[in-house]
Amino acid sequence: MATTDLARVTGHTRPLAILGYPIHHSLSPWIHNAGFAAAGLDYVYLALDVKPEDLETAVRGIRVLDFAGFTLTAPHKETVMPFLDELTKEARVIGSVNTVANRNGRWVGTNTDAIGFQRMLELNGMYRPGMKAVMLGAGGAARAGFYTLGKVCSELRVFNRTAARGEELMRSMEPVKPEGALWEALPMDAGLLARHLADADLLVNTTSLGMSPNVDASPLPEGITPRPECGVADMIYSPPKTKLIQTAEARGCKTTSGHLMLLHQAVEAFKFWTGVDPDVPAMDAALRAGMEAQKQ
Ligand code: NAP
Repeated sequence: MATTDLARVTGHTRPLAILGYPIHHSLSPWIHNAGFAAAGLDYVYLALDVKPEDLETAVRGIRVLDFAGFTLTAPHKETVMPFLDELTKEARVIGSVNTVANRNGRWVGTNTDAIGFQRMLELNGMYRPGMKAVMLGAGGAARAGFYTLGKVCSELRVFNRTAARGEELMRSMEPVKPEGALWEALPMDAGLLARHLADADLLVNTTSLGMSPNVDASPLPEGITPRPECGVADMIYSPPKTKLIQTAEARGCKTTSGHLMLLHQAVEAFKFWTGVDPDVPAMDAALRAGMEAQKQ
């Protein structure tokens, strides 16, 4: 337990937790406990293995125990919604919740993946009004990605193996579509993808292709590469350099991996619970330490 000083846990300490299944791989306890310790806040954050069929009971238990809040990871981000009292606009439009705060007994759900993703792009100079973006994938992470990109892109295209999933995603975002924006949901067709990558400013991978342990997989079909002027962002954080990122770097593209998204969704969750700006370098150092520990 490198980042939690158990001597500081007392009868006054407020609990928080991440709920997922399976959950033992989670890096969130590393990040949040380091953040609370650095800010001098009397909270402790745990990882709880909650089976899908037990989620409602677990949330009821958390309410009774008066936790300060909780976070959610797969497979609970969508299914938790009916058990909460209130949702932010982000959570409603994106259709998933990753952070819940206890506001005097009212349980408010939000989604901080979208803002975490935005920070990752901003920190790399990749979040530019009017840009043309291509997004690969239409799963849960893609919904947060689309919400963020949809706010600023003049053209936004989502390619997915299961085309209907991309179409449904796009339809669900219609209420927040800026006037004049061009949105398209397309099948994962190499020719179509090559055509739209030819003038894209940003390529984003939201699929799980390339994630450890399948590090030789790429979400791009064989022979298709972005142009050097295209920024490439991969939501995957393990490995830190996916095959996609390696290919993009070889083309001379500016790149970023999902590490910053993971860090900044946690930073935003921390702020949502506490109203305090956390010590981001301390949280980042703990995240890196957690990743190192998991390698051993
Ligand atoms: P998900 O809901 O299961 O979606 C997976 C996506 O990948 C879908 O679009 C799926 O296409 C596509 N896909 C999977 N296997 C494929 C294959 N063999 N060929 C083509 N497409 C395939 O998962 P998710 O929750 O969105 O997560 C996706 C990735 O984002 C994961 O690697 C996760 O670690 C990462 N992520 C990172 C952060 C962060 O903070 N950095 C946050 C959330 C997620 P179909 O629709 O056709 O099945």
